[in-house]
Formats: sequence, structure tokens, C-alpha cells
Amino acid sequence: MRECDVLVIGCGPAGLSAAQYAARAGYRVLAADALAPGGQLLYIDEIENYPGTEKMSGYALAEALEKQAVSFGVEIGFMEIASIEKDGDAFIAHSADEDIAAKAIIYAAGARHRHLGCQGEEEYQGKGVSYCATCDGPFFRGKDVVVVGGGDTALTDALYLSKICSSVTLVHRRMEFRGQKVLSDRVRARENIRLELGRNVVSVNGNGRNVTSVTLDDGRMIEASALFVFVGIIPNTEAIDGLVELSGGFVVTDGSMRTSVPGIFAAGDVRTTPFRQVVTAAGDGALAAHAADSYIQGLNG
Ligand SMILES: Cc1cc2nc3c(=O)[nH]c(=O)nc-3n(C[C@H](O)[C@H](O)[C@H](O)COP(=O)(O)OP(=O)(O)OC[C@H]3O[C@@H](n4cnc5c(N)ncnc54)[C@H](O)[C@@H]3O)c2cc1C
Repeated sequence: MRECDVLVIGCGPAGLSAAQYAARAGYRVLAADALAPGGQLLYIDEIENYPGTEKMSGYALAEALEKQAVSFGVEIGFMEIASIEKDGDAFIAHSADEDIAAKAIIYAAGARHRHLGCQGEEEYQGKGVSYCATCDGPFFRGKDVVVVGGGDTALTDALYLSKICSSVTLVHRRMEFRGQKVLSDRVRARENIRLELGRNVVSVNGNGRNVTSVTLDDGRMIEASALFVFVGIIPNTEAIDGLVELSGGFVVTDGSMRTSVPGIFAAGDVRTTPFRQVVTAAGDGALAAHAADSYIQGLNG
């Protein structure tokens, strides 16, 4: 069985930051990822809000984070962790090919956005179809955009976009919003937000390079440069479900990234957090590594 001090599960910005901090503090760190290191960064065409960097591709930032972690001695393992069990003071993580023993676990498996599944959605992802207003809204300054969803995120982000974009058409499949009343009141009062209630988006249309319009299920076409989809986010908690406390599917942590199980820490999009961004994920990773360090020192007496 492979052994390490800290097993980091997930090599997105949270995991790579945690791994880097833990390795730099002198621990043997294995950072495991089911896919390529980088996580959601690999889907970001251009990132311009990571502090201190010029506008760059998500791929380039992922490479830089991985290189930095490896330079401090982090070992990257290409494996999907299926489950974790407690074994005395240690943890055993299981993947299809091998078991790994670790003194502490940092769980940074991220999350994925629920998609609409409509025609054109995948083709135009990164070319106008977006799942993050903070990330992509500024690219559509002064343009007409469509937002889909009826929860707090859709309402908050429609309000945010209405300050940047020329107009926002908010499409929701029900006649009432699920989100807080105070938010829906603000949305209804905002002059440049138009509501399409009881409607669904059936296709995103474009010219091959950019989104140009969106078609509703009554056949009408709305001209728009972007479609923002806020119909839910699914945390990747399969490997940890039943072991630590979850809330709404997300891992519950305290401010130091400690979960309900001593020795297991969580960081980034997978945990309950009000803001899911690269910078917050990286910050979480640093905090989790710091807390794991204190925990392991406690074990050593
Ligand atoms: C299209 C798009 C554009 C975005 N634009 C921006 C932006 O401009 N600015 C910004 O700040 N943020 C942006 N974001 C959000 C940002 O990418 C995320 O908030 C951030 O990547 C979260 O980092 P994370 O490390 O928590 O999780 P993730 O990046 O999701 O990484 C999690 C990793 O864990 C791995 N994993 C999952 N389960 C397992 C398992 N069981 N075993 C092993 N590995 C596992 C996954 O393969 C993945 O590599 C964007 C997101 C998307 C999708």
C-alpha cells in the first residue's frame, strides 16, 4: 500500500494549492486526480480575475499551479478515489488500482454545473454559453444576454448582469421564482430585466464562433450574445458521502476547512461556500493545508 502524510483528492486550484502548501511545509504529499490536473480551469477560455496575473488561458494557469506544486515535491497520481475509510489514526483511500494510507486527507474534488441539455449548449460553451456571471459577465458589457434559472443564484446573477449588460432576459420554467422574495422583487423592479416565465430554452444558436440568439419553447427567438445557465451545481462528493457531514450535498467545514471528521479537510467548490472562484478555491487550499499541518503535529504529540 502506498503511504503519504497528506492525500489531496482533486487537482483543481484548491487541491494544487493545498498540495503545494503541505509539501512546502515538509510533508509527503500525494495529489490524486481522476482526470488531468487543473479541474475546471481546463474549461476556462480566458481568466482575467485571478489576482496578480495578466489575462491568461485556464490551461496555462493549471500548468503553472501543477508545476509549482511538483517543484515543492508533490507527487501527482492519476486515479479516481472511490471511497475513504478511517483506520486507527490513519485513513485508507481506495481507488480501482491501489489503496493509499494517509495521516490526513484534503478533499478538493470540486463541483460541476448542471446543464440544460438543449441544442447548441455544448457547442457554444465558452463562446457565449456560461455558468458563471462573475467569471464571464464582463466579457458581455453593453450586450443583450439571456439568463436561465429561478433560484437565488439566477436572481442574484441576473441583477449583477443587469448592471453590466444592456439587457437581461430571465427565462424560468415556472411562473414563480424559487429564490428569495427580496431578490425576485428587485429583479421585477429592474428596468432592463425582462421576464419570460413558464418558458424553457430549447436551443442556443450562433454563427459557429459566438452565440447570436436563443430559441424558447414557444418558437420565439431572442437575440442575445450570451446565455447564462444557473440551474444548479452538483458537488463531487461520491467518495466522501456518508463519512463527513454534508449540507445540500456540499461538504460542511469550519473557517479552517475542518470537516466533521478530524483529519479530513475540504477545500474549494465542493464545500459549503458563498463564492466559487479560482481565488477562493486556492485560498481554501492554503487554509486546509495549514489545518492539516496542525492536525498531524497533534497526532505526533
Ligand atoms: C467554464 C468555466 C469558467 C470559469 N471561469 C472562471 C473565472 O473566470 N474566474 C474564476 O475565478 N473562476 C472561474 N470558474 C470557476 C472555477 O474554475 C472554480 O471555482 C474552481 O476551479 C474550483 O476549484 P476546485 O479546485 O475547488 O475544483 P475543480 O476545479 O472542480 O477541481 C476538482 C478536481 O477534482 C477531481 N476529482 C473529482 N472527484 C475526484 C475523485 N473522486 N478522485 C480524484 N479526483 C477527483 C476532478 O477531476 C477535478 O480535476 C469557471 C468555471 C467554469 C466551468
